[in-house]
Amino acid sequence: MADSPTPTCIRNPDVKYTQIFINNEWVNSVSGRTFPTMNPATSEKIIDVQEGDKADVNAAVAAAKAAFELNSPWRQMDASKRGLLLFRLADLVERDIAYIASLETLDNGKPFHSAVNDVLFSIKVFRYFAGWADKNHGKTIPVDGSYFCYTRHEPVGICGQIIPWNYPFVMLTWKIAPAVALGNVCVVKPAEQTPLTALYACSLIKEAGFPPGVVNMVPGYGPTAGAALSSHPDVNKVAFTGSTEVGQIIMQAAGASNLKRTTLELGGKSPNVIFQDADIDKAVEYAVNGAMSNMGQCCVAGSRTFVHEDIYDEFVRRCVEKVSKRTVGDPWEKNDNGPQIDEEQLKKVLSLIDKGKTEGAKLECGGGRIGDKGYFVQPTVFSNVQDHMTIAKEEIFGPVQSLFKFKTMEEVLRRANDTTYGLAAAVFTNDINTAMTFTQGVKAGSVWVNCYEVVNAQSPFGGFKMSGLGRELGEYGLQQYTEIKNVVVKIPVKNS
Ligand code: NAD
Repeated sequence: MADSPTPTCIRNPDVKYTQIFINNEWVNSVSGRTFPTMNPATSEKIIDVQEGDKADVNAAVAAAKAAFELNSPWRQMDASKRGLLLFRLADLVERDIAYIASLETLDNGKPFHSAVNDVLFSIKVFRYFAGWADKNHGKTIPVDGSYFCYTRHEPVGICGQIIPWNYPFVMLTWKIAPAVALGNVCVVKPAEQTPLTALYACSLIKEAGFPPGVVNMVPGYGPTAGAALSSHPDVNKVAFTGSTEVGQIIMQAAGASNLKRTTLELGGKSPNVIFQDADIDKAVEYAVNGAMSNMGQCCVAGSRTFVHEDIYDEFVRRCVEKVSKRTVGDPWEKNDNGPQIDEEQLKKVLSLIDKGKTEGAKLECGGGRIGDKGYFVQPTVFSNVQDHMTIAKEEIFGPVQSLFKFKTMEEVLRRANDTTYGLAAAVFTNDINTAMTFTQGVKAGSVWVNCYEVVNAQSPFGGFKMSGLGRELGEYGLQQYTEIKNVVVKIPVKNS
């Protein structure tokens, strides 16, 4: 992959798939309804997509159930073959990277170079889990008595997977790769804002040779298609990435219907703490990117930057200098930022910026919309942000950096943890004791030392507190897609 040339964007990619994908076939919605998917850079409609609802979810779940029946081709397939199919899928994604990244830029608005990075990451995730397919095995256990005891690591079964719009293709791969590697079957609901790359992936899943019904996809809205999936009595597990509010609804539905296994990757208000001995150039760069990357539409966004009082003024000055140079505009060009995802998010971000101003934070730069076509927001920096302000508490999901001042480790740890979230955190320091004290004290699922947003296929990702349940990626991510069966066999005599 390192030797591959950088893909060239296709500015008007042909949209090839807009239907519901069930049993490796494309079908229209039972209701006959469609919904539009929009281009966030122009506010114009790209195309209409079939709108799935409960009846379509039922059909998709029935297909998945049939694929998961005992003695089906999928259940009888060698685990190593499942891995091979995933390796093939990774190769197909690599073959089509220019097209997939272009489709992502069109549908999501992220700059093309970011979309390429997303697809490269997705390929790594497919290959990582492909390798696990035949390595997730049980144990033999020396129990008391004349018995042979062993565990089987079995697939959970039918997995409902609900995807957000901020990383549409990446989130799809985080969900389906571990699931199918371990022999599960999936019904996926992509976000209504960004269904196109996920639907294209279905064509590659078929081309790779996955049997019908193993991966099914129902585009549609959350309260209809999403709710039908999370409350379906035949779905064994639901995996969701999105807002904490919807995560709570999904967990309730999962519990009330059939106690589905549930994994949730939710919001965050992640603290990034800069001590006075840090390498300031690097800290500024990571802090700005940590707050602004993907237009701030990132669950791990470093949306609370705490800076030691000795370096505060200098740090603010340097962040403002850096943020003011960020380019915002056409996602097909080499800009740092594209548009926010839709009008609703644009309004939400602008209203939170207004709250920052009225509640007394100091607007250092940015603070408004750019143009009236597309949903572009100026990269924004607030200083003198206080913990009680709305921008200090709510997830903004926009290109907004909030700079807080602190004096001591004890104080900053207390303030960093004073949130219902616990997704990620970072500390910048050259003192090992400072770093270790912080990493032990902060309540977050990912902690970065002298870096930010380093996420890999091999290591776990997930949240403490209201940022989520369970972990995705890495070996820990296998647990979420495995049921453990303990088997005890009576034997005539036992020997050590
Ligand atoms: P959301 O949580 O509403 O949507 C995420 C997914 O859940 C979508 O596929 C959606 O259709 C589905 N969904 C919505 N309601 C559902 C329901 N009742 N049952 C089942 N599925 C349902 O997120 P949003 O409205 O698109 O964005 C709102 C806020 O959520 C953002 O401002 C941001 O703060 C947060 N968000 C976080 C992430 C993340 O990665 N943690 C991703 C997207 C949004």
